[in-house]
Amino acid sequence: MDQTPRYDYVLIGAGIMSATYGIYLKLLKPELNIAIIERLDSPAMESSDVWNNAGTGHAALCELNYMPDSTDGSLPSPKKAIDINEQFVFSRQLWSYFVQQGILDDPKTFINSVPHMTFVRGAKDVDYLRRRHRVLKDEPLFEGMEYSEDFSQISQWTPLLIEGRDDEVIAATKIDSGTDVDYGEMTRQMIHWLEENGVELITNTDVSRLRKLQDGGWEIKTKNPRNIYFAANKVFVGAGGYALKMLQSAGIEEAKGYGTFPVSGHFLRTDNPEIVKQHWAKVYSQAAVGAPPMSVPHLDTRLVNGQPSLLFGPFAGFNLKFLKSGSFLDLPMSIRPANLIPYISVAVNNLGLLKYLITEILKSKKKKFEGLREFVPAAREEDWELYEAGQRAQVIAPKGKLGTLQFGTQVISASDKTIAGLLGASPGASVSAKVMMDVLSQLEPEMVKANTEEIRKMVPSFQKPVNSDSTLAKKILQDTAKALDLTK
Ligand SMILES: Cc1cc2nc3c(=O)[nH]c(=O)nc-3n(C[C@H](O)[C@H](O)[C@H](O)COP(=O)(O)OP(=O)(O)OC[C@H]3O[C@@H](n4cnc5c(N)ncnc54)[C@H](O)[C@@H]3O)c2cc1C
Repeated sequence: MDQTPRYDYVLIGAGIMSATYGIYLKLLKPELNIAIIERLDSPAMESSDVWNNAGTGHAALCELNYMPDSTDGSLPSPKKAIDINEQFVFSRQLWSYFVQQGILDDPKTFINSVPHMTFVRGAKDVDYLRRRHRVLKDEPLFEGMEYSEDFSQISQWTPLLIEGRDDEVIAATKIDSGTDVDYGEMTRQMIHWLEENGVELITNTDVSRLRKLQDGGWEIKTKNPRNIYFAANKVFVGAGGYALKMLQSAGIEEAKGYGTFPVSGHFLRTDNPEIVKQHWAKVYSQAAVGAPPMSVPHLDTRLVNGQPSLLFGPFAGFNLKFLKSGSFLDLPMSIRPANLIPYISVAVNNLGLLKYLITEILKSKKKKFEGLREFVPAAREEDWELYEAGQRAQVIAPKGKLGTLQFGTQVISASDKTIAGLLGASPGASVSAKVMMDVLSQLEPEMVKANTEEIRKMVPSFQKPVNSDSTLAKKILQDTAKALDLTK
């Protein structure tokens, strides 16, 4: 008799994406038999770990890359910013429901209210920020956004940006509905609930191969420990940077031509209470020329276990690993005949990015520190430490015969609805609730259709636009602020 354990679902990887997906499945169909297989010894140790990401609740309140300037000096379009904000509002509703249901603990353990600011220097960017503010201030989800070019006002918002700064043209916006999120703690609490509700968490088990079974399901083979087999009717690949590897191994047509491009990240951090108490905001600025959108410099308040710190970065770097605990063979081993041309064309068409990455890699700690001084003129080097954050695996998507570098999150699912996976990093964990609902809609369309009312209990705005209904937008912001204790 075949001894291979068989599940309705196997989720590969114990990060925020698998955790969210597992909870959707368990809430909508509690009888499902689910296992999560994780290569490390506990959940949330890769990108979802608190210090491996920046913990921004990305709602496009402060990130300029979600609302690029117009080319002719007219008002920039808020379309993408609204879309990102609506996705974050989806997360806020789901997390509120999880708190109400006891799936997540005290919200202060994983989400805190931290104003989001944008800070720019020089006449050109000041003009852009002024126009951006003019558009966004009247959008319901951006209500309360303030704008200032005044040193003393900006200093009241955050003294660190102004202390020691010579007279220059600057501007900032500030909105109080921003958040700092500990996605690692959130993931651990979610996986704890899943285990209490019958999901098996199998750690220290590295999946190496996926093979289609004749009955339509999947055989899952491991390499460390060697040659353990599992079987599943359906698989969700929440393996972060290794998702492409898993989808390639499954041999599904939909993954052909895709590649991933690793970008590592470093931040400067200080825990010095004298400095930390002078800054309570996440302040994003304009990216350097050639820099990818996720390398926009920002100075952030972080709250971890109730302790505030500041981080500044990211400083991009390049190594061949797809996970922080990955291997230098990851990139070379991901190259296939189908994605070789996309890889080469992305390299040729993104020379600005390559130049930027080389410059970043060659930057000494001193040079990195100069970047911080543009934000915090009075910063002292001895107060800040450089540390390595998580590894991002950006998507290289096939485009005709060539390839294109994408900075979003991309769901890949097989046409027979038995396997799906997630590529890409940004805006990442912030939009995990919406992205995982998209995966559920692709793999389980009947389940979603039959449970629309149940899903609306979790996310009242499910399948509804929010920003265009100002009453709904206000209600959701107020209700979720209350449920997530973001009102103080
Ligand atoms: C530097 C940086 C800053 C970021 N900042 C933000 C931010 O401010 N806001 C935001 O919303 N998002 C941010 N992100 C993105 C966000 O962290 C990710 O989108 C999110 O954590 C991805 O979650 P995940 O579950 O897909 O992957 P992960 O958290 O990486 O989890 C994948 C899991 O799969 C496991 N795994 C991989 N391969 C296998 C295998 N073969 N077998 C078994 N297990 C396997 C891994 O060990 C890991 O535990 C940032 C990311 C980085 C790197």
